[in-house]
Amino acid sequence: MATPHPREERTLVLVKPDGVKRGLIGETIHRFEQRGLKVIALKMIWAKREEMDNHYPKDDAWTRRVGEKTSKTYEKYGYDMKLELGTTDLLEIGKMVRGWLLDFMTSGPVVKMVVQGVHAVDMVRKIAGVTMPYMADMGTIRGDYSVDSAAAANKEKRSVHNIVHASETPEEATHEIANWFTKEEIHAYKRMEEDIQF
Ligand code: ADP
Repeated sequence: MATPHPREERTLVLVKPDGVKRGLIGETIHRFEQRGLKVIALKMIWAKREEMDNHYPKDDAWTRRVGEKTSKTYEKYGYDMKLELGTTDLLEIGKMVRGWLLDFMTSGPVVKMVVQGVHAVDMVRKIAGVTMPYMADMGTIRGDYSVDSAAAANKEKRSVHNIVHASETPEEATHEIANWFTKEEIHAYKRMEEDIQF
């Protein structure tokens, strides 16, 4: 099967409850639109836990990766993982963080959208900035508007508040888009500058 044209690539974005409550819906969308990316589906929802559970990968590899990242934070800042979290098992820790994430993502409304454009997955991740706000570059959404860290979040046994979620790979985007939108809710239209910009 031929690969799609790079300008047809789609990604799934969620403005997380912290982004919604801080009035950053418009700013988030603005940054995608000004770059030339096209919003082709959009809705505000207060997700049920089951919907959010289906959104995030459930496989052990993903969960362990989250656990590994968390353990690196504990190591870096000299926190005692066993003392603070009661275990050093990376899969268990990954499950714990995943649970905090589900708590957070269902704590208020989120805005879900499908964004399309040239290498949309990588472009949107770049505009969003890296996962941990304190490390995110200035000029990114997370870098300009948030200040959280895993160390701070884990002390309080909660998820990191980082304004947006964006799919990490085109495969992940396909799964996530299907989880949140029907085909009829996704719209094809041409933006005025498409023929000029790329
Ligand atoms: P991203 O959202 O950048 O793709 P991940 O897939 O690694 O990042 O993690 C998913 C989400 O889980 C993050 O956006 C963040 O909100 C939360 N998170 C990740 N790692 C931690 C952690 N160590 N402690 C608390 N929350 C975390």
